[in-house]
Amino acid sequence: MDIKEKIQSLRDELRQHNYNYYILDNPTISDYEFDIKLKELQALEDAHPEFFDANSPTQRVGGTITKNFNTVVHDFRMYSLDNSYSKEDLLDWEKRIKKIVDGDLQYTCELKYDGASMNLTYENGKLIRAVTRGDGVQGDEVTTNVKTIRTVPLHLKGDFPERFDIRGEIILPIEGFMKMNKERIANDEEPYRNPRNTASGSLKLQDSAEVAKRPLECLLYSIKGNNLNISTQFEGLEKARAWGFKVPKEAKLVNSIDEVLDYISYWDEHRHELPYEIDGVVVKVNSFYQQDELGYTAKAPRWAMAYKFKAEQVSTRLNEITYQVGRTGAITPVANLEPVELAGTIVKRASLHNADQIEKLDVRVGDEVFVEKGGEIIPKIIAVDLTKRPENSAPTNYITHCPECETELIRLEGEAKHYCPNKVGCKPQIIGRIEHFVSRKAMDIEGMGKGIIELLYHHNKIKNYSDLYYLKFNEINGLRMWLENDEAGLKKDGQLQVSLDKAIFGLSHGWGNLTKKESSLLSNQITKLEDLFQLNNFPNNVNERKVNKFLDLLNERFYTIDLNNYLQFEGYVSLNKLIDLKFDLYPNNLFNFDFQNLNYIDELLGSSITGLVDDDSKLDEFVTKISDRNRVGIQQTTAKNILAAIEKSKNKPFYKVLFALGIKDVGEVNAKTLAENYLSLNNLINANLEDLISIRDIGESVGNSIKSFFKDEKNIKNINRLREAGLSFQMEEKKLTSKKLEGLNFVVSGKFQVDRNQLKKIIEDNGGKNLGSLSKNTSYLIVGENMGPSKKMKAEKENIRMISEQEFFNLLND
Ligand code: AMP
Ligand code: ZN
Repeated sequence: MDIKEKIQSLRDELRQHNYNYYILDNPTISDYEFDIKLKELQALEDAHPEFFDANSPTQRVGGTITKNFNTVVHDFRMYSLDNSYSKEDLLDWEKRIKKIVDGDLQYTCELKYDGASMNLTYENGKLIRAVTRGDGVQGDEVTTNVKTIRTVPLHLKGDFPERFDIRGEIILPIEGFMKMNKERIANDEEPYRNPRNTASGSLKLQDSAEVAKRPLECLLYSIKGNNLNISTQFEGLEKARAWGFKVPKEAKLVNSIDEVLDYISYWDEHRHELPYEIDGVVVKVNSFYQQDELGYTAKAPRWAMAYKFKAEQVSTRLNEITYQVGRTGAITPVANLEPVELAGTIVKRASLHNADQIEKLDVRVGDEVFVEKGGEIIPKIIAVDLTKRPENSAPTNYITHCPECETELIRLEGEAKHYCPNKVGCKPQIIGRIEHFVSRKAMDIEGMGKGIIELLYHHNKIKNYSDLYYLKFNEINGLRMWLENDEAGLKKDGQLQVSLDKAIFGLSHGWGNLTKKESSLLSNQITKLEDLFQLNNFPNNVNERKVNKFLDLLNERFYTIDLNNYLQFEGYVSLNKLIDLKFDLYPNNLFNFDFQNLNYIDELLGSSITGLVDDDSKLDEFVTKISDRNRVGIQQTTAKNILAAIEKSKNKPFYKVLFALGIKDVGEVNAKTLAENYLSLNNLINANLEDLISIRDIGESVGNSIKSFFKDEKNIKNINRLREAGLSFQMEEKKLTSKKLEGLNFVVSGKFQVDRNQLKKIIEDNGGKNLGSLSKNTSYLIVGENMGPSKKMKAEKENIRMISEQEFFNLLND
């Protein structure tokens, strides 16, 4: 096989695997094998730019930067849809249709995917263009970004029309969205509000490599073109599926409006079982012939109707406003709500964002508030029910001091958030920085979860990340402590309270062993633990035999223990009482206790129970079960593993170390850019502001953050300790193809025969350097098609040599 054939066969193979994985959900090779093949293809393409193909599977990883998106007029206008909200609306719609068309009506019912609409144009089976809806007449061309979306086929299969448009919705599945947010929160960035906006925002990112990292999908619903040889909507969906598009199988062909209504009510109820969000259903007259007869209004087709689900909203009580401190000291107020069910999940918390938001809504503790999840994953408080405001209510005073370290908060000009400035003494900031340092994308120290970090900090073993590299086996082996997580039982009147479902679950351990689910079903039926004895019917799905066993034992214990004030608060049980209830008291065994260990529990309970229980391991287990508290500990093996992982992290490349340092505004991408431009930390420390901001994507505020980070002596001290420990503070020398371009600085601008990133890579592989913008240091400007006139003027003014792509390759091959 010659090179060209080899490249072709790899591309075909990878395409098939991509299809198996993303469209069929049925991969036939491992991710690892896929990566190996993709790298092989990439290497061949790199070595042979003459075989470049804009639709090769290697293009999925992106990398092209688009500064301005071109406006493109759609071949077929993208209409909007009329909305309906009730059964009556739909029946009226059918009446109107029946006045215009003859014959039987069939409908295709589809889900209304909540994302950003997209028009894809295919020619000879290849994706040639992707354009956003825009105003319906014209939109923005976002082809390079859309190519990174794995469910958008770049090459079609089967018997497709020569040229056609296909429309779909770019969506972000909920799981992927949550994962992105988890990472953002871990990096102390504001989480994205909802999948829809994040999906549509992604399409306009300038760096397509960033788009490639997002788990976007494209779900298709409509084909447009001339002479398509398709006669119904449903047939169109089936064909699109056969050509390799992702068309959700939930779409259904029905024969009457009654069946449409069934479809709607089914999905209104089951929408939360889908992996992505929908905001309704779209009903379409199935026959294209009938569609033509019906035509369009000025705004929407007469043959289609959207049915919108109601935004889900509930009201509940605001119990408390708490404040979280992030890694950079940013304060986020959190509304702690009386738990309610909303959109298929139990909501206990909602973000209040910042002080302005609290003031705007005038929310107060004790208020009944409306919580909405209209397409939003993180619920938000939209209003206060003023009719239910308690008489003695007072406006919320935003905190003035850090809830963790009591330092006075500051508010920087132009920023909505308050900050705790106590960087070195504020626990969540310290822990947060270490957590960031060890995280997967930074030093990737396995086994160092938040719990272990807290444990080490609690025992004074680490105060900042540099201490990690000086830990000794004997110092950490055997450490243990109780951890409070967010769900910890609430404190009322100085006592820890456990919610009823947890109480039942924990108590029944060894006494009937009810499951979490059973415990929660039972707890919904009662307000006090004692009410259990009064229950006549048990809920479905609760094993009656188990409950009775549990109640028998509970009954016995109730006799032996003083029941006064068993339950001070509706829905909760005091943790102390539960412990009394669970264990027989053996004061005689006092001498056998491991006091050191039980002290933790004393701390936890806020009162002394040391001496009440004979078996502390049982107590550990019980407390863990009942209060969502976990005990972390480091045993021998853990200690060894942690130390080995820390040792291993010393091999991480410089750019990872730079990211791990946690400089404000220096994320993964900026860290890499900086490392590549400065090659060593010393160079970076010595760079002046002007120099820093001449680098692509490094703006003035990032530049200032960098300067101020290195101005801080404590940071320099930490860095020196990391250096002594053997971490890498400079880039490894790259293996170069040649040194022909050594000492030359290039700026690349416009469109080229080879992909622009490819061109940049060739420059670097041969010892040259890419600059982000023109300056006196630029040796050559490589001029492509459509280069902006201002660049040209600047180059002429600065006397920079301009060469064409061909001249560049001549330079290289001299
Ligand atoms: P609207 O934005 O409310 O006018 O609704 C029209 C939009 O719904 C279209 O532009 C599509 O982006 C979107 N949509 C989502 N799912 C579908 C579907 N199955 N069929 C047609 N349009 C859909
Ligand atoms: Zn603080």
